[in-house]
Amino acid sequence: MSFFYHPEIENKEEYQRRLGDLERFCKEKTIKLINNDYRPEEFENIVEPFRDKESIKFISDKDRYRRRRCHLCNSLLIQKTVEETRKHRIKYFTSTLLCSPYKDHDLIVEISNEKALDYHLDFYYQDFRKGYWMGRNYARNHQVHIPRFCGCLDSTKEERLE
Ligand code: SF4
Repeated sequence: MSFFYHPEIENKEEYQRRLGDLERFCKEKTIKLINNDYRPEEFENIVEPFRDKESIKFISDKDRYRRRRCHLCNSLLIQKTVEETRKHRIKYFTSTLLCSPYKDHDLIVEISNEKALDYHLDFYYQDFRKGYWMGRNYARNHQVHIPRFCGCLDSTKEERLE
């Protein structure tokens, strides 16, 4: 089963493109796909308190702001994943967040292990970054959209890749 939950994606068109590709893939491979709808407010609610661009703290410490924002974002995505895993009485979960060499891999593993303990689930870990370039080639050859930024509005300005 595959679960698509991306409230952090900054516009609906981009969200639909990514979802459309996954729908196509799941249909081809006969994988059940759960889509949690587009709910950007769920991401905004958690990062908004850290987005005061006028504050001296933000201006003087952009890296710290980014790390904090990404921590909250990854926690939210993994939290929803474990909730869905429990709901469907599945024992194992993993995450496509582990595919990206641009994300904080260790942090994602740490959060996933914590959530697995909290929810009495097993976190399946594999370093999917090893297949990153293979995945990009697959995308090119199968007309799959390759995002130019991670997802949120801030990442479009920072030009962070997926
Ligand atoms: S850069 Fe990526 S991981 Fe960080 S908050 Fe934005 S969407 Fe989430």
